Amino acid sequence: MSAEESVQSIENSATEVIEHADSLSDLEAVKVQYLGKNGIVTEQLKRISSLPAEERKSFGQAVNRIKTQIAEQIQARHECLEQVALNQQFLDQSIDVTLPGRSGTIGSIHPISRTLRRMEQIFDQLGFNTVEGPEIENDYYNFEALNIPANHPARAMHDTFYISDHVLLRTHTSPVQVRFMKEHEPPIRIIAPGKVFRCDSDVTHTPMFHQLEGLSVDEGVTFADLKGVIIHFIHEFFEAEPKVRFRSSYFPFTEPSAEVDMGCVFCGGKGCRICRYTGWIEVLGCGMVHPEVLKHGKVDPDKYTGYAFGLGIERFTMLRYGVSDLRYFFNSELSFLRQF
Ligand SMILES: [Zn+2]
Repeated sequence: MSAEESVQSIENSATEVIEHADSLSDLEAVKVQYLGKNGIVTEQLKRISSLPAEERKSFGQAVNRIKTQIAEQIQARHECLEQVALNQQFLDQSIDVTLPGRSGTIGSIHPISRTLRRMEQIFDQLGFNTVEGPEIENDYYNFEALNIPANHPARAMHDTFYISDHVLLRTHTSPVQVRFMKEHEPPIRIIAPGKVFRCDSDVTHTPMFHQLEGLSVDEGVTFADLKGVIIHFIHEFFEAEPKVRFRSSYFPFTEPSAEVDMGCVFCGGKGCRICRYTGWIEVLGCGMVHPEVLKHGKVDPDKYTGYAFGLGIERFTMLRYGVSDLRYFFNSELSFLRQF
């Protein structure tokens, strides 16, 4: 093999190796193998000086030619591999804009809040403002001002959570009555919804539950006004017109007092499990504000009269949505809550 033939065979083998380099790092290794300091082509250049003078020129030209060609081939292959790598990168990072988007989960309003809003709306239309009172209450507002002095038997029914001798978690929303009367002159028309607390827990009792208190005080307010408001409220709330009856009852803070029953909305009064086959469902307590309570509120009982009522928000929610266990409302069971 002549010197030029061997140079040509170097170029042929280089071309093949370059074409088979599949990555930029492989190609870099090929470059070192042929054109590096001790590379195959470089070794040929070093040979020139040892050749006979008449061969040097043509051999030198041949070696330089393949050196240039190999460098060009490597450069071309380099550009090609770079393009392939770039295309792959685009492919990896591509976004399929036709895929469905990821949306957040939308919560729903808790059934108790839903009922409360509905009640506020109905009473708002009747001219009642919504007010609030503290959940941590003192003995005076929770009991004494409501005509329940120490040792009164009614205290035993309240199962009170005491914080200290005179500080407690309010057992009903009625303390808001006296608090509001002390600060405002009649006419008064308010509802006071909120949390109340009693030391009791079973299917029909939870230690925390919600009540809504209503109070109206003005000159000439009568039991007939109370009846009108309650009947209207029940009809609006249940979007039906069940019969409503007032049964005389006893509460220390109202006189006279009544408990209100409505005709069972589930069986139409024929009798079912929910109304315990009586056809009636007890829904709230009410009465004319006791003169002693008015006095505690700095309201003159000779000039003004008023009525008050109190209802359980859970009870109304259970009746409206047909929920059988009170505890469902508070155990954070999402499958239950998502129905609302
Ligand atoms: Zn019934």
